[in-house]
Parts: sequence; structure tokens; C-alpha cells
Amino acid sequence: MYSKNAWKKYKNYDEIFAFNEDYKRFLSNGKNERLVVKESVELAEKAGFKNIDTFTSLKSGDKVYVLNRNKNILLFVIGKESLTKGINILGAHIDSPRLDIKQNPLYENSDFALLDTHYYGGIKKYQWVTIPLALIGVVVKKDGTTVEINIGDDKNDPVLGISDLLIHLSSDQLQKKAASVIDGEKLDVTVGSIPLSDEEKQPVKANILKLLKEKYDIEEEDFLSCEIEVVPAGESRDYGLDRSMVAGYGHDDRVCAFTSLRAVLDLNEVNRTTCCYLVDKEEVGSIGATGAQSRFFENALAKLISLSEDNYSDLKLRECLTNSFMLSSDVSAGVDPLFLEVNELKNSAYLGRGIVFNKYTGSRGKGGCNDAMPEFIAKLRNILDKENINYQTAEIGKVDQGGGGTIAYILGNLDMTVIDAGVAVLNMHSPMEIVSKVDVYEAYLAYKTFLKEMK
Ligand code: MN
Ligand code: MN
Repeated sequence: MYSKNAWKKYKNYDEIFAFNEDYKRFLSNGKNERLVVKESVELAEKAGFKNIDTFTSLKSGDKVYVLNRNKNILLFVIGKESLTKGINILGAHIDSPRLDIKQNPLYENSDFALLDTHYYGGIKKYQWVTIPLALIGVVVKKDGTTVEINIGDDKNDPVLGISDLLIHLSSDQLQKKAASVIDGEKLDVTVGSIPLSDEEKQPVKANILKLLKEKYDIEEEDFLSCEIEVVPAGESRDYGLDRSMVAGYGHDDRVCAFTSLRAVLDLNEVNRTTCCYLVDKEEVGSIGATGAQSRFFENALAKLISLSEDNYSDLKLRECLTNSFMLSSDVSAGVDPLFLEVNELKNSAYLGRGIVFNKYTGSRGKGGCNDAMPEFIAKLRNILDKENINYQTAEIGKVDQGGGGTIAYILGNLDMTVIDAGVAVLNMHSPMEIVSKVDVYEAYLAYKTFLKEMK
């Protein structure tokens, strides 16, 4: 069904609400890409998936996952058809905008200890001050042991935060443009204020180091090999008096990651091999070994073909890529009633109207977009309409207003047929993003239908 409110289709909302409880748990536990991968492995193993390293050959019905540096996961259900006929892929990113701890982060100033950060991805810096924040991530020590850090989410934990100037002294600050109201270098996290008694120099910092030594057995120099992120503290919550929405950190793009993952986990017998690809680094350009531009995806597919067919050849891999279909499962900008002016309302995504297809993203003259084939869109309309699934089409805002990108073009560059399809989000890239529960559920149904029916 095209561009209709999806709530109206349902007599009761039990299934929608129950599915979203699972999603809220996933979102609350998965506040960075490592944690999302960890959770995905747990869910996958419960559903009968096994690590590819445990297979010596693959046959129809096998369920397998492949990990990349604990930051990407690929999951496959092997189909009845040869892989060279192509596979059906759902690809979402699992990194979200946040603040990363610098390599030499800890300092003392004015009787406070602080951690210096460098923001990751596109943020409005002013949204990250005076809210409760948590620290998550890993510290890898010289001997190779990995210490997991997770402070601020448990209700018995303290939270951290970034200060902002009191209104009484803000007359200069309030004249600044929003982009510079809070400087990138001022996004430093307050972590303590008790001085270590017999320490002369930087006693508050010394006390924090003592705590870190006691609790985690780490030294200041261990920050050199850490990956610690500052993220909003607390769990995702129902939003709205009618509980129709979910408020949380990281819907972009974990809402599409979760629905894509569940779609692959919940389908057993398939004709074409199905795939869910959860990938890192989209918010900074999809580059590096864990971004969508990495060879990891092709390498994993090569391995899959070599375990499934008698004679592996590069041609078989190329044929598989060319014959594959992909939904680049990424979020879209939902219409905000308080900011209608940035949208062209006939071509905008509305919360509650189902999964959103972006034929193209990009900015200015569609710069940097993957412009999906109308032949592909027609097939999608056909299979979704047969299953009575709600969908809509959209652009990201008015033509000259800005824009955005996804991983769609990267897989398109591998000669695959790709379109962007995901959930509409309000407050995108803020510490509290909003999605509609019915869209989450409709996206899941749409992804499942695509995996089963697209050929
Ligand atoms: Mn995204
Ligand atoms: Mn994003």
C-alpha cells in the first residue's frame, strides 16, 4: 500500500508492540558497533546460525555468520539456488554519531578532571551538553588483554556529562551561530572532582587514575590503545501518550540493522540465499577495513562460494554480485511538523506510513547518489502490494536544502541492483532520535518479503 497510514491496517497492536520491545532491548544494549555485533551473534546463535569457521562445506538450509574485527557481521541462509544466480541482501550500518575519547584524553582544570573528545559523524554540538552521558568501549592493554568499559547505563552507575555556560553569563555566547555555540574542543566530559590527598600536582586527575587502576587495572598510557565512546546514558523508551513511538539513541541505523537482522533470522527455507550485512563507519564515509568499502564483503562471499561449489572461480563471484539484489537498509528523514519548510511535502517520508524508499539520496544535483532502476522499483511495488505492506517514497528534504548519503552506491559499484529502503526518523543524529513503532514492524515485514520474493 502506497503512502497510507499503517496503523489503520491493524485491529490490535499487540504484535507491533511486542516486536518493538525486542527492538528497544537491542537498541539499549547496542550503543556501539562492537556491542551490536555481540548482540547479533547471540541472537543468531539462538536461531541456529554458526560461525563460518566451523563449516567445511555449505548446503541449502545452512545458516552461517562471518565476523570482521568484531565490528561487522554478515549472516547468510544458504538457498536452494546456486550462489552464482545472485543473493538477496539487506545492508545496514551499526555506527552512530557520538563523541570518541582522544588518545591522550585525561586532564585537570579548575579542580575538575575531564576527558577530551573528538566527535564522530555529523552532530549538532549544542545537543550534547547538559545531558546524562555514558562511557562505553574497550581498552586493549599492551599484553593483549581487552578491558570492557561500560559506565553510566546501569541505574547504580554514575553518569557523566558536558557542561554549558549558565544563562546569566551567556550574552556573548548567545550571539554566536548555532554551529559555533559549542566548540568541538569544548566537548569535554567531566569525570571527577575529588583530589587525592597527598598529591601536589593534578590531584583530581591522580584520583581518577587511581580509580581506573582499581576498577579496570589500566594506566594512563593505556588510553593510547583504547576505543571509548561517549554516548547518551539510559535505555530507549516509549514516546508519546499513546506509546506509538520509540525514543532512543542510535536509531540511525540500528533500527534498520535490527529489522534486517530479524528478517534474515526468521526465514528458514529460501530459494535465493539471503544475507544481512551490518557494517561500521557509514557516518564517516564507509572507508577502512570495517566500512562498506572494505573488501570484507567480497572476501566473505568468495569463501561462501568456495564452500558451496566444486570449482571456485573469480567469475562465479562476479556473477553472484551482478545477479544480486540489495536493499540498503538505512533511515530516512521524517517530516517534522515544526519544520515543514525544509521538505517538499509530496516527496517526503512521514512517520507511520511504512518503509521509505529513497530512489536516490545525495545532495545538490543528486551528487553522490545511487539512482535506483525503475525496473527494480516496479518489482518491489509488486511484491509489497501482494503482501499488503505499507511503503512510501521520499527525498531527503527540498532540493537545495542539504542532503545525505548511505552505503547504497558502494554495493552498486560492485554491479549489484540496489535501492535505499528504511525507517523514517525524527531528530536524526541527535541524542534522542524518534521512530514510529508501526514503521519498525512494517520495515521488518517488507525486508522479509524482499528476501523471500525478490528474483
Ligand atoms: Mn544512516
Ligand atoms: Mn546518519
